Amino acid sequence: MLNLDTVKAGEELLRLENLKKYYPANKALLVKDRKYVKAVDDISLSLRCGETMGLVGESGCGKSTLGQTILCLEKATAGKIIYRGVEVTSLKKDDMRELRREIQIIFQDPYSSLNPKMTVGSIIAEPMLVHHMGSAAQRYRRVGELLELVGLRPEHAKRYPHEFSGGQRQRIGIARALAVDPKLIICDEAVSALDVSIQAQVLNLLRKLQKELGLTYIFIAHGLAVVKHISNRVGVMYLGKMVELAEGDGVYKNALHPYTRALISAIPEPDPEKVRQREILVGDVPSPVDPPSGCRFHTRCPHAAEQCRQSEPVFRDVGGGHFVACHLVK
Ligand code: ADP
Ligand code: MG
Repeated sequence: MLNLDTVKAGEELLRLENLKKYYPANKALLVKDRKYVKAVDDISLSLRCGETMGLVGESGCGKSTLGQTILCLEKATAGKIIYRGVEVTSLKKDDMRELRREIQIIFQDPYSSLNPKMTVGSIIAEPMLVHHMGSAAQRYRRVGELLELVGLRPEHAKRYPHEFSGGQRQRIGIARALAVDPKLIICDEAVSALDVSIQAQVLNLLRKLQKELGLTYIFIAHGLAVVKHISNRVGVMYLGKMVELAEGDGVYKNALHPYTRALISAIPEPDPEKVRQREILVGDVPSPVDPPSGCRFHTRCPHAAEQCRQSEPVFRDVGGGHFVACHLVK
């Protein structure tokens, strides 16, 4: 049974233990011939109530799959998802419904995730209908409140998504996610498609809502710049694995993993005096079907040694909650 109102700010809301999500990569009949896309490959982490965890990594690293698996839209291949102290696979139907209400997602592209044929009011009210929340009149009132909460106006409920700008559509997506009083919101590249100035406005809105409503966020982005000011902790993913994780601005000030350093080099530096020593990433992310041996990053790592090709580095705490998986970090 999910224990409502037992998780207070700062306490653990969600825990992942050795979570894996593999997709079949072929249709081979024989078990030995089967191949898998190892989209999420052994991820463990704990999320505290009220915090924002930034999650970054290049496209194809498994960030969205991790989000979908937490939402229980994809079934985990192995490992555990523990939400409010309960393993999600053991949840009964009603509790599963409760979990689906409490964990919401905001997508990157509000153009394709908002039904163009529905009014903004029906779009925002839909999750409330699905979860049998309130009467029609109550839902109508709530839509108006939600629109105001995200910086739009109640009369916008009568309009259609195409009448809004990208930033406004993302606000509609946020209002829809908030409609069912969620606890945890997964923002999957929620601001990645927006111009920088609009991005800042939406990020500020998300921060304000977090304070007012006590929300917990998992904030997914492909670059480190976007998540910098919104995250309490930042995790860096590479080919299905977490390679570095640190509190506050730990990964920005003291990046230990060569992959993290490369992502930092990719952040535009407006001050030419401060142009740092760049570590440019060469090549593409290798296929998650046959990931490289040893450290998965060794094929692109400028510092790779023999050990990196042979054995997989352990993801370990090197002090102060700063975790890294790299042989070269002593
Ligand atoms: P990200 O969000 O970091 O870009 P994804 O989680 O979308 O990464 O994808 C991780 C890997 O899993 C990619 O190689 C992708 O092609 C693969 N993948 C994602 N969804 C599926 C699916 N439904 N079936 C097969 N492979 C998938
Ligand atoms: Mg994605």
